[in-house]
Amino acid sequence: MSRATETSIFTEMTELARRTGAVNLGQGVPDLDSPGALLSDVASAVLAGANQYPPATGHPALRAAVAEHQRRRYGIALDQDAEVLVTTGATEALAAAVLALTGPGDEIVTFDPCYDAYAADARLSGATLVTVGLAIDGDGFALDSDALRAALTPRSRLLLLNSPHNPTGKVFTPDELGRIAELCREHELTVLTDEVYEHLVYDGARHLPIATLPGMRERTLTVSSAGKTFNVTGWKVGWISGPAELVAAVAAVKQWLTYASGTPYQEAIAGALGGVEEWAKELRGVLASGRDLLAGGLTAAGLRPYRADAGYFLQADIRPWGFADGPRFCRELPELAGVVAIPTSAFQQGVDTAPWLVRFSFCRRPDALREAVTRLSALTAPSARPDR
Ligand code: PMP
Ligand code: GLN
Repeated sequence: MSRATETSIFTEMTELARRTGAVNLGQGVPDLDSPGALLSDVASAVLAGANQYPPATGHPALRAAVAEHQRRRYGIALDQDAEVLVTTGATEALAAAVLALTGPGDEIVTFDPCYDAYAADARLSGATLVTVGLAIDGDGFALDSDALRAALTPRSRLLLLNSPHNPTGKVFTPDELGRIAELCREHELTVLTDEVYEHLVYDGARHLPIATLPGMRERTLTVSSAGKTFNVTGWKVGWISGPAELVAAVAAVKQWLTYASGTPYQEAIAGALGGVEEWAKELRGVLASGRDLLAGGLTAAGLRPYRADAGYFLQADIRPWGFADGPRFCRELPELAGVVAIPTSAFQQGVDTAPWLVRFSFCRRPDALREAVTRLSALTAPSARPDR
């Protein structure tokens, strides 16, 4: 996507899957169950009449639940009235924050590859997105702190962090976060951190919010959302929290984007957040099994998956199949194997040093993943694949 007005890669690939009947491992849209009580609470809220605008800053019960969640899990104390704002998904929180805090002449620094909304938000605000490539390190991805230092200029205004990270599945380590935080303090940057996958962290990896590091709470806006945590991506309820003056600036923009949204959803999510730990433990088990099933299938099919410690996605190296170009591979994959994936280059804003990476999502039921793996493995014999 080169302009904010173009169709997103997710829309394009989901449409391709629909048209071709391929298994859709492109868009990160789960087909997994949600907590039963959450679903019935929404229905009850609707029937009980919670159907008019909530306050523009969000349903008080949800603001209280978010403040309590941040305190309980991370020890971050928040004033639920001044320091928490409910938004229409994380998407609106990110857009409103970028619009509130940056404009022409400002630079927003983020890591490449990155979630595609970041570049679109920068274009909407008129700021310049400066990307710092994540280094490929063995079977994973790592921070290059020299490259980050080199990217910072007197125009740098905002550092946009995403951990756990889409599209790589990376969880930034405490050491990496410490180095990022040090540079942000040194350059007096505001940090906008997208933590929508905060609960989906596997194999003992741990999510550490950058706001908990010394000197960071006062310069950090933290974004999260119910979509991934409860498998309700269609509800579009997110939130942003941080220092009152920054949240007020975001709220001032947000009121003209959507004013408010989804009263019954907000009310029900407020209830579910209190018990999120128990629910998320179960969900992590389901997702980690899906990841292992998919990684095993990709390996058996001769592709090379990278490690994913979190989130919904696996990166795979397609070169063993003779492809060097992710977009071409993804255009041909539905025909070749009946599977849709997304070229990682769609998330790359700077120089693409790894055009052979492709993103596969594993937030699907085991039968869909098994079907995809079976289809891919039918192509393992080199003779079954076209010459590249
Ligand atoms: N940030 C990241 C990293 C994402 O993967 C997504 C996709 N869900 C979003 C933000 C958007 O979240 P929401 O659906 O809550 O707007
Ligand atoms: N976050 C999802 C992904 O990365 C998609 C969100 C969207 O379709 N905008 O696939």
